[in-house]
Amino acid sequence: MLHPIPRAPLVPLADGHAVPQLGYGLYKVPADDAARLAGEAIAAGYRHLDTAAFYANERGTGEAVRAAEVPRDELFVTSKVWKDDNGYDETLHAFDATMRRLALERLDLYLIHWPVPSTDRYVETWRALVRLRDEGRVRSIGVSNFHAHHLERIIGETGVMPVVNQVELHPRLPQTELRAFHEARGIRTEAWSPLARGRLLDDPVLAGLAAAHGRSPAQIVLRWHVQLGNIVIPKASSPERIRENLDVFDFDLGPADLAAIAALATGERTGRDPDDD
Ligand code: NDP
Repeated sequence: MLHPIPRAPLVPLADGHAVPQLGYGLYKVPADDAARLAGEAIAAGYRHLDTAAFYANERGTGEAVRAAEVPRDELFVTSKVWKDDNGYDETLHAFDATMRRLALERLDLYLIHWPVPSTDRYVETWRALVRLRDEGRVRSIGVSNFHAHHLERIIGETGVMPVVNQVELHPRLPQTELRAFHEARGIRTEAWSPLARGRLLDDPVLAGLAAAHGRSPAQIVLRWHVQLGNIVIPKASSPERIRENLDVFDFDLGPADLAAIAALATGERTGRDPDDD
C-alpha cells in the first residue's frame, strides 16, 4: 500500500486566518538551494514556509511558491523584518524590499524578528506592521523573540495583539510560562529551532522513545511539539529529512512519554536571550 502524503492540520489564528501547524524553516538554507529545497518541501506535502530578510533566501522561497503545482491560497508564507530595520519608516521600506524579493502578491504573516530593547524601536515597528495589515498588504502580523514584558508593552501601547510569537522552543527550553501567557491571550506559540539545531537528537531518552514508537528521534521531538499545540518549523537539508519531519501526524505520544520529554528541560538556549540585544 502506498504511504499517503502527510499533511499538517490547519491551526486557527485569532484574526480569523489559519496556518499549517508544521512548516519548513529556511534559516541557513543557502540562497542557491532555497528554491530547490522549498520546492522539495512543497512536493513532500508542506504548505508553510518560514523565511526572513536576514536569511537572504526570500528570492528562492518566492520562486518555489510561484513554481509550485499548488494553488497560492493553500500555501502559507512568513517573513520577518530584521533588527537593523526596526523603526516605523524603516519597517515599511523593509517590507517593500521583502515583497520585491519574494515577488508574491501577498504575504501571509510578517513578524518583528527581534525586539532589540536597547534601541527601543519595537513599538514603532509594531505600529508599521499594524498599518501594513490594515492596508491589506499582509494578512496576519506577529512577533518573534518577544518576552512577556515586550508583548505587554506593544499590546498596552497599541491595543493590537500579535497572532503569533515565534520563539526558541524545544525540550530543553519548553517555555512553559510564556506558552501559558500566550494561551491566556489567544497568541499562538511558534517554535524555532524545534530540534535544538539537531543537538538534542542523540539524547538516550529520545532514542528510547524513538525505538519504542518505531520513529526517529527528530519525529519524536516534532510530535511532542504538535501535541503541545505549537506551530513548528524544522529546517532540514535533504529531501529524506524534509519528508521525515512532516511524517508525524499518524502516531501519539502517551502521558509517560510526554513526562519523559518534559524531564529534559534545562533552560538551555541555542540562541541569544532577546533582552541581551
Ligand atoms: P532546527 O531545530 O530545525 O534544527 C535544524 C538542524 O537539525 C539542522 O542541522 C538539520 O540538519 C538537523 N535535522 C533536521 N531534521 C533532522 C532529522 N530528521 N534527523 C536528524 N537531523 C535533522 O534548527 P533551526 O535553527 O534551523 O530552526 C528551524 C527554523 O526556525 C529555521 O530554519 C527558521 O525558519 C526558524 N528560526 C527562527 C529564528 C528567529 O529568531 N525567529 C531563529 C532560528 C531559527 P541538516 O540541515 O543537515 O539536514
